[in-house]
Amino acid sequence: MIQKHNLRYFFKYLLWLDFFKAFALAFKYFFKNKATINYPYEKGRISPRFRGEHALRRYANGEERCIACKLCEAVCPAQAIVIDAEAREDGSRKTTRYDIDMTKCIYCGFCQEACPVDAIVEGPNFEYATETREELFYNKEKLLENGDKWEHVLAENIKMDAPYR
Ligand code: SF4
Ligand code: SF4
Repeated sequence: MIQKHNLRYFFKYLLWLDFFKAFALAFKYFFKNKATINYPYEKGRISPRFRGEHALRRYANGEERCIACKLCEAVCPAQAIVIDAEAREDGSRKTTRYDIDMTKCIYCGFCQEACPVDAIVEGPNFEYATETREELFYNKEKLLENGDKWEHVLAENIKMDAPYR
């Protein structure tokens, strides 16, 4: 004797019920806004607090913001930052070396939180994959270059965040 649930499955498969249900679902979502984007040709919005690639910023006159206080180096839990510094002739302290080992960095943001002059920041750039490990050992030149490249976004983000700091 054919059991009741076996009969139900028999008709379900005979009438292609699963197929039509899936088709109706696909049809319903066909006209809705897409949940995905065509990366890298399209890019989604990023929070102003996004912690991406690091950059060292300058003042508008081109002077480096960093005063070599080494707070970022001290606070970094991954010990990814190495700084050397010396006094200039005018008495100001500037770094002679500012390295970040990006392979050690855990993107906690402590360095930018600790910086009293908003010199080291984590910017919006997340597209910096490299082919070699060595390319992820950033030096001062690379970090300043990042700062110059992203300054327009970095300054705006810091301004937006200022009331909450
Ligand atoms: S984001 Fe965190 S781990 Fe990375 S360099 Fe800054 S303090 Fe160190
Ligand atoms: S980046 Fe900021 S916290 Fe780090 S040494 Fe320079 S001034 Fe100090």
